[in-house]
Amino acid sequence: MPIDPNRIATDIEEIARFSEHADGDGPESSAVLGYSRPTFSTPWRAARDYVIAEAEGAGAEARTDAAGNVHIRHRSVGWERRVWLSGSHIDSVPSGGKYDGVMGVVVPLEIIRAFPEAPLELVVFAEEEGTTFNLGMLGSRLWAGHQDPEVLGRLRNRHGQTAAEAGLPHGLDPDRLRAAYGDAAGGGGGDWTVRLDPDRYVGMIEVHAEQGLSLWDSGKAIAAVDRINGRRQFEITLTGQANHAGSTGMPGRRDALAGAAEIVAACESLGRELDRELRHTVMTVGRLQVAPGAVNVIPGRVEMSVDFRAQEEELLDRGETRLREIVTGVARRRGLSVGIERSERVAPSPLAPEVVSALVDAAAARGRTLPVIPSGALHDAAMIAGAVPTAMVFVASRDGISHNPDEFSRVEDIAAAAELVADVVRSGS
Ligand SMILES: [Zn+2]
Repeated sequence: MPIDPNRIATDIEEIARFSEHADGDGPESSAVLGYSRPTFSTPWRAARDYVIAEAEGAGAEARTDAAGNVHIRHRSVGWERRVWLSGSHIDSVPSGGKYDGVMGVVVPLEIIRAFPEAPLELVVFAEEEGTTFNLGMLGSRLWAGHQDPEVLGRLRNRHGQTAAEAGLPHGLDPDRLRAAYGDAAGGGGGDWTVRLDPDRYVGMIEVHAEQGLSLWDSGKAIAAVDRINGRRQFEITLTGQANHAGSTGMPGRRDALAGAAEIVAACESLGRELDRELRHTVMTVGRLQVAPGAVNVIPGRVEMSVDFRAQEEELLDRGETRLREIVTGVARRRGLSVGIERSERVAPSPLAPEVVSALVDAAAARGRTLPVIPSGALHDAAMIAGAVPTAMVFVASRDGISHNPDEFSRVEDIAAAAELVADVVRSGS
């Protein structure tokens, strides 16, 4: 039974129905408001259960690991065999689209239905977007051992629940994760339901929407991804002096927002400069909080975020040094006190050349030339890449739009990705 685009389309539409906006408002509401599935929420669980039920209907079996990730294998494959891993996430950003993450789950689901004997394990990672608990790729981080599980007691969702509390009914087990963390020698005592065991996998392929323009603009359906940008994020606090906007003259002001504005502009210039040195380098100030935030008060305090991504660690090091110089220089000149804290550091992930070649060769065998491109965005695959030979397949995103209800990919392109993954997975069996 070959890959069936209609089944893939049905899966995507069915999963889209599980959304916080869908409650009794009719289908139009999601088309306008988008699709919202925060991790460990009711719609998230319903989407997860849909995937499990579909797989079980095809003769597969599901298990949950201590990080709340779901693993699915066909019974004819069993849990002992060394297989390929493929999967992504079903949580969404608030008011997101139907395809981000979801296509990377329904592709291996369709492969299990079409080729039950394929040596494949489907994984649904818990919490990728980072919008539920403010930490991206939480499920894959924990399983891969890249995250101290202690954080689960501190991260909270918008209802005030900690990740540990919210995840409990869905298989998250902080105690088992804690027992394994820091145990470099096969943390988890070889128990794959606590810690990723690389010996169990031939490789990992994550299918994902490109979320950029390069494929759509060039009329290509799919591409192999050979590299994922590293990311560093910073929280910067500038403190000046709040004062009366009318009676305080311009000389001697210590305006925190005017300082922040200089830093925003300098970050943009620095990002452009570094991008000229190495393509796909980006720097973004995405959040500014101004206090007291009144029309007639000089801003006394600003908190701002910086997100910085590049393909090389050395460039990230240099960019971070420059960023710190910019921030301290502006603060010194303006008499502001400054705090700069690096809140995240994920190294660039070169993906496995042998998996990329296997994808390129499989495409060639189908008469298709597969472009090879890097990923600017982070994905679960980046967490697995250090332990298991990993690559990604990108599917064209219409107009490059994502994290938006208008997000769209052609189902025939997703099916082409599924055929490619199926070819690679089945080639060695
Ligand atoms: Zn995603």
